[in-house]
Parts: sequence; structure tokens; C-alpha cells
Amino acid sequence: MMPKVPEPILEFLKCEVCSCWLSCGPVLVLPSFKSICGRCSNNANILQLGPQSKLRHVTYELLASFYKFPCIYWSKHCPGYLDWDDSTKHEDNCLYGTTVIKYCAKPQLMFKQERKLNLAEDITLYDIPDNLLEQLKCYLCEGYLSCNPIVITGDGKNICHRCVTTHGVPEGRVWRHTAFEILLETFIFPCIYKFRGCTIRYRFGEQMWTHEIECSYGRIFKKAKNVNANGKERGVIETHTGHIYATLTPNKPLFAPPDEVGKQGPFLSEFQRHRESLVKKWGNNGTDRNGNVVEIMENKQDETDTDSRIYGQQNGARNMVRYDSVEFGNTIRNNLIDELKTKQKQRSDDIISISSSARLSDYSYHSGFSGNRPSKPKKFEYSVY
Ligand SMILES: [Zn+2]
Ligand SMILES: [Zn+2]
Ligand SMILES: [Zn+2]
Ligand SMILES: [Zn+2]
Repeated sequence: MMPKVPEPILEFLKCEVCSCWLSCGPVLVLPSFKSICGRCSNNANILQLGPQSKLRHVTYELLASFYKFPCIYWSKHCPGYLDWDDSTKHEDNCLYGTTVIKYCAKPQLMFKQERKLNLAEDITLYDIPDNLLEQLKCYLCEGYLSCNPIVITGDGKNICHRCVTTHGVPEGRVWRHTAFEILLETFIFPCIYKFRGCTIRYRFGEQMWTHEIECSYGRIFKKAKNVNANGKERGVIETHTGHIYATLTPNKPLFAPPDEVGKQGPFLSEFQRHRESLVKKWGNNGTDRNGNVVEIMENKQDETDTDSRIYGQQNGARNMVRYDSVEFGNTIRNNLIDELKTKQKQRSDDIISISSSARLSDYSYHSGFSGNRPSKPKKFEYSVY
């Protein structure tokens, strides 16, 4: 059962033309922020107003349909409270609008005074139902229309107090709707961070606005970063070959050599060691594709002195040749190509040796070939373990 409009509010929900309740649509708003009821919106005087002088406010109609409105003969003691848009049907046939009822049905009404609104009546506040709340959102920011001023654009859309305060009033035809803002005062709004879990609710007004600014659900927390004293960050990096835990240096590609002179020593000597181990593994003689000997360190002592290679900044660094980055990149690329070629060659050698010695019977057991099946699977001649 829908509630009745509170009487102190009803006082402000009157038509500018006929002074009846704004209880049926379409409800129009005038440049004076006043309203025209559905009964008068088809009057010749109103119809001749151009689109610059009136606009329909559908959001008011949706909000007002939450309540039952009294009959326009309420002051003549008609007890009828009517659903939105049912008013005109009832009022056209309402006996309280005629003098007949006074003489025939209820003669006691002859001596009764006109009913007056009780402006001291307590106002019951209602939580806005979810379906209605969806309609009471700002057209710009989607925040709830939970505080005034609410500005209405030329096409009847609502802009909230937050947007008006932050960005100013938009250009073009913008009005407010007094009756709409007064009717909103009978409702309780949830916090705009309701979807994040805030359960705070306040009556339409500034209290909610103050809360939204302070609401703990509205704050954005930044995760603390694992940054060391040099401003570098340790963290997990995703690469094509998996995840590695490493130091992230801003504006540097992955595995870039350090800039600082003192720290290049260990990097280059580590790289040289890695290269040597590859040479041992794949039999390359330390030459690049063009047959030139690739030498990263000039200090021959480093070839034998392990400590000075690792702590290059102490002994090896004074003789270290600093390659420019292009040359350095080319060296790495050539080495990688060499390494890949060697691997590829060895793999193709393996394949040739397998295929030359393979017989059909070696594979028939696994491929489902029925003829000439060995009684037991053949044992491998070697083991990896
Ligand atoms: Zn009217
Ligand atoms: Zn009536
Ligand atoms: Zn807004
Ligand atoms: Zn909140």
C-alpha cells in the first residue's frame, strides 16, 4: 500500500495555474522553477508556450508516483486518496465537487468549514526503493540526486549538486524544479559508495554530501611498493619464459647493463664467463659470425684471477674497455645467433642419426601396426639416467 503525501509537503506541490495538487502528468516546469499539473498542461495558454518556456520533468512524475495524492476536493472533505494519474478519472465524477452531496447525502457538510492542511504534521521518511533510485541519478556522474541544487537541462535530464558545484552550471536552458526538490526531502538516500559496502543512509540534504566526502569506502588505497634506498623496486616480472624476481629500474629494458661505471665491471665479466661456458659447451672458439675474436675484457689477468673478475671495480675496472651500447647489443645478438645455430646443427645431427638406424618394427608397437609386432617392447640401448 502506497503512503499518502505528508500534508506539510503537499502545501508546495500545487499547480501554478489551477492550484490543484501536482498529482497527474505530464508535469511541466516553467522558467520560474514553478510547476504545471497534468490537468492544465493541455490548456491553450500553456500549449502556446514555446519549448524555451516549459519543459516536461519525467523524474518528478516517477518520484511522485511513490505516493497517493488526495482528491482535488480534499478541502471539501472528499476522503479519496488516489494513485498517480488516477486523479482525473475520480475528480471528474467526484460528488464532493458538486453541491448535490451537501443537500442530499451528507447535509452535515453544510456547516463544516473547508479542510486545511496540517502543516505541523510529522513527516514520515521513506527509503527510496531500488527501482526508483536507479532513476534518481545524475545524468553526468551517475551519482544519486541526494542534495540540492538539482539542475534540469532543456531535455528534462537532472544534474546533481556535485557536478554543478565542481563544473558550474552547463550552458543552455537550465532550470531548477522547486516541487521536485521539496518532494525529495521526504526520502532517505544511500551513500554513493553503497556498492562498495557502505551502509550509511541520510535524508536528502547536505548531511549525505558531507558524508560522501569523508566516507572511508570512497578512499583509494595505493599498495605500498617494495622500493630500496636507490629508488629501485624489487618485484616479480613476467617474461616470455616465465616469472623472475628482480630489481626493476625505471625506463630501462629488461637485462640492460647498469649505467654506473663501477657496476659495469661485474656485469661484463659475468657476461664473459657465461660466454666462455657456452664456448666450452658448444665448441665455438670465441669468434663472432665474421670470424673476429670477441674480447670483452682486455685485462688478461682477469682470465685467471676469478676474484678480480667478479669484483671488477677493484682490479679489473681500470683496464676495462667501455663498449658503446650499439656495439654491445650487436655482440650479444651475434653470440645468441651463434648459440642457436650450434644447437640447431646438433639437433639435426641427432635426427639424422635416429632416422638412418630406425626400422619400421621399432615404431610398429606404438603406432598400432598389427603385423610383425614384437612380443615385448624393445629396450632402449641407452638411458638418460
Ligand atoms: Zn493545474
Ligand atoms: Zn473526490
Ligand atoms: Zn553529477
Ligand atoms: Zn559512505
